[in-house]
Amino acid sequence: MTKVKNKAADRQHAKRESQLDFPFPKAVSRIGPVIQARAAEVAARLKVAYPIPDDGTREQFLNFTNPYECVTAVALSAQTTDENVNKVLPTLFERWPDCATLITADQKELEKVVHSLGFYRQKARNLLGMARVVVDDYDGEIPGNMVDLLRLPGVARKTANIVLTESFGITQGIAIDTHVYRISTRLGLTRAKNPAAAEGDLCKAFDYTDWYHINHNMVAFGREICDARKPLCGKCILADICPSAGTAKD
Ligand code: SF4
Repeated sequence: MTKVKNKAADRQHAKRESQLDFPFPKAVSRIGPVIQARAAEVAARLKVAYPIPDDGTREQFLNFTNPYECVTAVALSAQTTDENVNKVLPTLFERWPDCATLITADQKELEKVVHSLGFYRQKARNLLGMARVVVDDYDGEIPGNMVDLLRLPGVARKTANIVLTESFGITQGIAIDTHVYRISTRLGLTRAKNPAAAEGDLCKAFDYTDWYHINHNMVAFGREICDARKPLCGKCILADICPSAGTAKD
């Protein structure tokens, strides 16, 4: 029975991939019409709460102005806050404004600049590795497609999704960061065990037209209302459709 259902889910997934014309992760939880309807309602309410301004520029949480800065900023944001990352970016981008200059950096020097962000050795190593691959294989320009982005050291789907959406205007997935994972779990949209595993669930739960908005709007909502430690369920616009309302834990 399970096998038949899995086969049906696989067929559905393959059909959607062929309609959208790009591959994306499969769901790992059971995502049926009830969850899809809840997801649609969540997306609609968040769009009203966090509208895109008339000039089309929405609030940016990390400070970057081009694909190189975007990859760097997002890669550095693992396990720390955007505020902390924004503090080190001006120094980093002034000294190494692109991949061509970054490959000349001394690892120890780079470690000093990113030291306050934690995991600084790994982060510095990944940035140097990323810059080296970009210079050697992509003429120094960050590639604008998922397959090539995932070849860069330190770049997984979360970073690649953000870079594609924010720097190239391409949406081929949903970036699952700590806010998106926490809120989606509380809302019962995924039962995945970790953020990376949840992307397929959210891609199935949300209509493709909502994928672009989900990361940005859930991050804004997570900062303002659905906080990790103290969610403000009493003020929440999703409380009536949230299975965790009043009982949410970190
Ligand atoms: S009701 Fe509470 S747990 Fe649910 S989404 Fe709102 S703030 Fe988060």
